[in-house]
Amino acid sequence: MPNFKGIFQGKQKFVTVKAGQVPEEPADGLWTKCRQCAGILYKKELTSNLGVCGDCGFHFRLSARERIAITLDEDSFVEYDEDLLTTDPLGFPGYDTKIEAAKQATGLNEAIITGQGRIDGYPALLGFMDFSFIGASMGSVVGEKVTRLFERAARQKLPVVIFCASGGARMQEGMFSLMQMAKTSAAYGKLSEARVLYISVLTNPTTAGVFASFGSLGDIIIAEPGALIGFTGQRVIEETIRQKLPPGFQTAEFALEHGLIDMIVDRRNIRKTLGSLLSLHGGRREEAG
Ligand SMILES: [Zn+2]
Repeated sequence: MPNFKGIFQGKQKFVTVKAGQVPEEPADGLWTKCRQCAGILYKKELTSNLGVCGDCGFHFRLSARERIAITLDEDSFVEYDEDLLTTDPLGFPGYDTKIEAAKQATGLNEAIITGQGRIDGYPALLGFMDFSFIGASMGSVVGEKVTRLFERAARQKLPVVIFCASGGARMQEGMFSLMQMAKTSAAYGKLSEARVLYISVLTNPTTAGVFASFGSLGDIIIAEPGALIGFTGQRVIEETIRQKLPPGFQTAEFALEHGLIDMIVDRRNIRKTLGSLLSLHGGRREEAG
């Protein structure tokens, strides 16, 4: 029998993470641990499985760039507004340092990438939020990029797909952050009047201001399995209404059962599913080039 113990020698720090400290992202190295079933996964296999645990189906968090790579047709993506930067409108202490650190850590300028690309041959305008950038909180730049995307889509009559993720408002921008909910919702209103399709894909977690604005405004709302979806946290709701919430509250599965979303799609099928939806809604397939 092969000595499996030997495989982990020298790699211990990746397989002996204490409960509650399991990183969502695969750590550097060959192996990582599934957060849901605690199975030890070979990272190469996890990557070829699009970040889905082969044993239990847990969806690991993806960066915006990874999401673009697995969803869009190769080399079809053209980014918009990548140089749009926050101006720290309130002069909030430490905000500029935090932004700088997030930029260094993620290689992004903000918590969303927007642009145009093709999914299974069908052109669309796209947004990809990245939770690693200050919890994908919605500040003025995220709101502005989404607004511009909707406005452009209304003009060009091209469908919009946004992969949402967010932990909440960008508190360092105060009211400038909160008003992005109204701004993006109004922009969606114009898109809707122009009769252009908008599909939102809720990834883990999509909460607070993003969920309460463009996250939940999709003509079709898709979620990834197990994604946390909701406005405010379970504890806060329980304290407010003084009632215990049912098990599974705020999961994608609970949301589907209660009619809040339209479907749950395994990440490995999202490209095909989006392609079919775009086709059904009058999309015209373009060839690569
Ligand atoms: Zn698993």
